[in-house]
Amino acid sequence: MDKNILEDILQNNRKYIKLGEVATYIPQLAKANKEDLGLCIKDMNGDMYACGDYEKKFTIQSMSKVITFTSCLLDNSIEDVKKTVSFEPTSTAFNAIVDLEIKNRHRPLNPFINAGAIACISMLKENTYQEKFDRIINFIKLLSLNENIDYDEEVYESERKTGSRNRALAYYMQSTGIIDKDVDIEKLLEVYFKICSIKVNCIDLSNIALIYANNGVNPFTKERYFSKEVSKIVVATMALCGMYDESGEIAVTVGIPSKSGVSGGILSVLPSKMGIGIYGPALNDKGTSVAGLKILESVSEKFDLSIY
Ligand code: GLU
Repeated sequence: MDKNILEDILQNNRKYIKLGEVATYIPQLAKANKEDLGLCIKDMNGDMYACGDYEKKFTIQSMSKVITFTSCLLDNSIEDVKKTVSFEPTSTAFNAIVDLEIKNRHRPLNPFINAGAIACISMLKENTYQEKFDRIINFIKLLSLNENIDYDEEVYESERKTGSRNRALAYYMQSTGIIDKDVDIEKLLEVYFKICSIKVNCIDLSNIALIYANNGVNPFTKERYFSKEVSKIVVATMALCGMYDESGEIAVTVGIPSKSGVSGGILSVLPSKMGIGIYGPALNDKGTSVAGLKILESVSEKFDLSIY
C-alpha cells in the first residue's frame, strides 16, 4: 500500500465535506472542526499508513457498540443474547423508538443501534455500574494498544443532559422486560453516555479493527482477547448493521464490515488483512462521516478490498 496514493485519496475526497454537517443534537459535538479529515490503515505486519488528521482525538460514540456487543457475547450465551437483541439491519434511524414497538417482540433489531447497545450494557455481568464502565474502557485500552485512553467529561455531561431520546428507549425497554426491572436506568445510561464519550483517534480505531480482522488475536503479541466465534458474530453484524440505515448500500459500494459514529469516526475491519480508522466530523443525513465514507469507498475500490 502506497502512502502517496492514500494521501491523494484523502485530498480528492475532501470536497465532500461541504455536503455534510457536524452533529448538533449533542451540543458538545457541534464544536468539532468540520474540515478535519484523517485516515489510518494498519496491516498484520504492523505497518501503518496514515495521513491527514489521523492523530486528532474525537469521541468513540457508536463505534463503542462493537466493544459493548463483544463484551456482552463474552458474558452471555448466544441464545441469551438473542432473547434480548436480534441481529437484523434496520431501515430506521439509530435512535428510533418505532421498531421496539412493532418488530421482533420488543427486542432491539441489532446491537449497533442505541437501544441494542443500552440493552447489551444491561447484560454485562459486573456488579456495579462503575465496574461496567471500567470493564469497557479497559477493554478499549487493550484492543487499541493504548493505555492512555480516557473519556471526555464535557461530551459525557452534554450527552447526559440532552439524552432524553436514549432515556425514552431505555425506560421503554424496561417496561417490556428487555431490560431487567431491577436495573437503575439512570445509572445504566450514565455508563452508556460515558462509554460513548471515550476519546480515540484513527490509530486507535485501526488497532481495534485489526484485532477483529485477526479473529480476536493481537497479531503482534499473539495474545487472544476473544474467541474466533465471537469475532465472527461481531464482524458479520458490522457488515449487516454497522452503518446505520444505509448498511446495505455500503455493503455494495464499499464491502468492508464497518461501524460509524456520530462524532465522524469509522472503524473498518478487513478480515485477515487490515484495520482501518477514519475521521471526518461532517456527517451525511444518516449520521456517517460524508467524506470519510467516500475515502473508504475509494480505498476499497483502489485496492480491490471488498469482501464480496
Ligand atoms: N452517543 C450517541 C447517542 O446515543 C451515539 C450515537 C451514534 O454515534 O450513533 O445518540
